[in-house]
Amino acid sequence: MDYLPVFLDLTGRRVLLVGGGEVALRKAVLLLEARALLRIVAPSLHPELARLCAEGRLEHLQQSFAPELLSGAAFVIAATDQPEVNRAVASAAGERGLFVNVVDDAQAGSAILPAIVDRSPVILAVSTGGHSPTLARRVRAQLEALLPERLGELAHFLGRWRERVRLALPEATRRMRFWERVLEGRIASQVLAGDELAAEAQLSTELQSEASQTSDAQTASAPAPRGEVYLIGAGPGDPDLLTLRAQQLLQQADVVLYDRLVGERILSRARREALRVFVGKQSGRHRTTQERIHALMLEYAGRGLRVARLKGGDPFVFGRGGEEMQVLRAAGVPVTVVPGITAALGAAAAAGLSLTQRGLSQAITLVTAMGEGAESLDWRALAAPLQTVVFYMGVAQLGRIIEHLIAHGAPESRPVAIVEQATLPSERLLVGTLATIGSQALDARIGAPALLIVGEVASQACQRRASVESLPP
Ligand code: SAH
Repeated sequence: MDYLPVFLDLTGRRVLLVGGGEVALRKAVLLLEARALLRIVAPSLHPELARLCAEGRLEHLQQSFAPELLSGAAFVIAATDQPEVNRAVASAAGERGLFVNVVDDAQAGSAILPAIVDRSPVILAVSTGGHSPTLARRVRAQLEALLPERLGELAHFLGRWRERVRLALPEATRRMRFWERVLEGRIASQVLAGDELAAEAQLSTELQSEASQTSDAQTASAPAPRGEVYLIGAGPGDPDLLTLRAQQLLQQADVVLYDRLVGERILSRARREALRVFVGKQSGRHRTTQERIHALMLEYAGRGLRVARLKGGDPFVFGRGGEEMQVLRAAGVPVTVVPGITAALGAAAAAGLSLTQRGLSQAITLVTAMGEGAESLDWRALAAPLQTVVFYMGVAQLGRIIEHLIAHGAPESRPVAIVEQATLPSERLLVGTLATIGSQALDARIGAPALLIVGEVASQACQRRASVESLPP
């Protein structure tokens, strides 16, 4: 290990910052956040530093660095743009046994200021030992995305209960198990969702019931653990289009029930130990029925597990998420719904076409033409101009859709785009008109999943990746 990570309590301690430019400003802001007594040595000051000085937040010595200025300092940062000055600061500090950070030159100093994720009181520090600050920032951004926004509140909440729990459960192992249950279950989710009152109430109840049981009886008579279900939209396919909340909950789930549209790259964002259960339809194989999916969710949640029900796109757009939510609610299982980017939005972005546009399209209709219901659709309304109609699950019905639209008044020249596997590396795009798109799709052997986008805006479509397969005008 090249460096030992340490968290310094700088409250009321003197820190000497050498340098008065923009880099020094960034360090000064950080040090003031850490409540250090800040003294800056520099011939001149950045206006923002001068303002902080005028407000009495820091002290400024208008002079060049001299070793005697180090006396009384607990920590030193050299942040000038002159390497020889920075080195002089580093060696003077070293001689006095002081840790010193040299900005942009880890080797010259003895301490590194890491990239930070600040969810105080939870703080994460990332360092690459000075090899690549850019990499450190990237890792930080990845961690940032994984950690719930209210992590700090959760830590405060747990801190407030710590003493009471210690008194109620004096035995250490039992106490630890209790805390683990709190963190894994509903109580922590409630705090993270901003509902501290509910969390307080539940923790209080659980603590009482836990404390009233003797150690031995504990396992036999413990109340049945309470599971929950996260109904998560996984987006159109590109894992980077998962929401932050989807990623966080995937990291918590014990079981992941996933559909055919959810790819391996998205699944790999789930907790490594999580059990993965495929519940999608796959040609040639047994199809998991909707009833079976309901039964599985209830069964796993009933065992006290956290179940992620992962669906392509958004759970409430042609995803049967509504039915699943109702079943869970009826059974009293807590449900959290996480919206996802629905395929129409993913495809529009991928194809570079705007679903609404002044003068061209003032409404968007998301529709599925699958099943018997298709005949009862209001085709006249779907064929009307000045709108964009996006057909889900439409590949197999393409011929019928075109026929119906034309029969109900849509001109044959109306632009149409088909986006297959939108946002995935295998994405393909076809652009044509109601007259041409049928044979184009046939020639290109378009298959599911694909979307049909009908309306003037479809002619804007152009592929970012592979070639656009469009007919010449
Ligand atoms: N809940 C999903 C839709 C499920 S229905 C959502 O909100 O997106 C399945 C249909 O969605 C597919 O038949 C296809 O029409 C469309 N679809 C889903 N992912 C897609 C993708 N990556 N590219 C194109 N179409 C997609």
